[in-house]
Amino acid sequence: MISVSSVSKRYGGFAALDEVSVEVESGSLTALLGPSGSGKSTLLRVIAGLEVPDEGTVVLEDRDVTRLAPQRRGIGFVFQHYAAFKHMTVRDNVAFGLKVRKRPKAEIAAKVDELLGVVGLAGYQGRHPSQLSGGQRQRMALARALAVEPKVLLLDEPFGALDANVRAELRAWLRRLHDEVHVTTVLVTHDQEEAMELADRIVVLNGGRVEQAGAPRELYDVP
Ligand code: ADP
Ligand code: ADP
Repeated sequence: MISVSSVSKRYGGFAALDEVSVEVESGSLTALLGPSGSGKSTLLRVIAGLEVPDEGTVVLEDRDVTRLAPQRRGIGFVFQHYAAFKHMTVRDNVAFGLKVRKRPKAEIAAKVDELLGVVGLAGYQGRHPSQLSGGQRQRMALARALAVEPKVLLLDEPFGALDANVRAELRAWLRRLHDEVHVTTVLVTHDQEEAMELADRIVVLNGGRVEQAGAPRELYDVP
């Protein structure tokens, strides 16, 4: 589904990514795990086509991502600090991408209702983002990203700013959601436990290189 081949990305003389190769299978949830500064966010941005690699290629469903126009890449993004539109209701935030794509009103309404149900925010359509908890806001962000039916969902430390309890809850919730919708997902995290609990496959980055990659149980000795 996503094929990253020998990608290098330098800032000045510094290699943020150094000949990185990663394969992401269709429908899987892959975690990019590593300490701060290891190149995780850079790799996610390269996959999204937001950064052009100095060397190597990123192929998404047989197409070079850097050659696709942004709106045709079919990528949904969720960041640690989600920038919701604060003057819009939850409903309008989730509907945003569909309105931009000029989908029919009835279709938008049905899709938004469905997604708010899926992320457990059915009763919150009329609220504003400031009236939601941090965890609810991130669930709204996921609904917004999923609304346009992306081929790939990219999550950059989506729960990083939340309390440990809420984070644990959302992890379990995201795993269930993924089992339901099966969208190909790449998640950046520095938290090994999060990667172990959520991911089908973990790619460990260190100093801009892939240190190891495999299923959680292939990489770590779990009791
Ligand atoms: P991570 O997400 O693992 O914390 P990043 O991909 O954000 O790592 O960054 C990897 C390295 O590349 C870091 O040393 C960071 O400072 C550097 N870096 C990332 N983006 C830029 C940039 N736009 N300009 C200069 N250096 C950058
Ligand atoms: P994250 O928290 O996801 O690791 P950062 O806060 O490190 O992200 O980076 C946020 C933005 O700043 C990114 O667009 C990245 O390219 C840029 N950036 C990161 N490190 C540097 C750096 N050393 N010099 C310039 N820009 C940087």
